[in-house]
Amino acid sequence: MGIQGSGKGTQAKLLAEDFQLEHISVGDIFRWNVQHHTKLGAQVKRIMADGHLVDDDLVEAVVEARLAEHDWNYGFIIDGFPRNARQAEFFLESYDIDGVINLHLPDGDVMRRVLARRLCSQCGLDYNLIGQRPRRPDTCDVCGGALVARDDDNPEALAVRLAQYHEETKPLIEIFERKEFVATFDATRSVEEVQAAIRERFSLPAWTGQT
Ligand SMILES: [Zn+2]
Repeated sequence: MGIQGSGKGTQAKLLAEDFQLEHISVGDIFRWNVQHHTKLGAQVKRIMADGHLVDDDLVEAVVEARLAEHDWNYGFIIDGFPRNARQAEFFLESYDIDGVINLHLPDGDVMRRVLARRLCSQCGLDYNLIGQRPRRPDTCDVCGGALVARDDDNPEALAVRLAQYHEETKPLIEIFERKEFVATFDATRSVEEVQAAIRERFSLPAWTGQT
């Protein structure tokens, strides 16, 4: 768990690759549907353009359908779910959970990181004006396409998402804390440091790869 910009997708990928876990990203599933103009995609696009989060029923349906594929022999790591108390209860009832990784990032850092994100309008490659700058301003290194911000990466929409995130996440962290599942990490630290801390906390073999 972690707000946008906390690096949860990156951390999840590193864990998934090394431990043969299936990485399930609710955001990626939605983005795929938006890009491929599915009915679900159109629904999601409308909601996100207003700066809102997709509603519980839709998120739950997507997660249930994804987990029902049962391609996760060694387990899964899920990011972008659950987002509120109701989804957390559903999740606890339905699956065996080993732990909750909570990446903490102060709001000011979230703003700075998220507003620096860019995306190639042609090939979809991600850039970040803080970390991964393109060689030529506003131009994709790979295909020469124009770099744009995502529709929902503007200060107004982000402020709505931040408020909503805090309001919904607090009670659900409390639910997981009661089960002593939650390990919180300081997401202002580097990708390598956060990954190392996660592995230490969950007694996993140290990470030897590169980002
Ligand atoms: Zn491109």
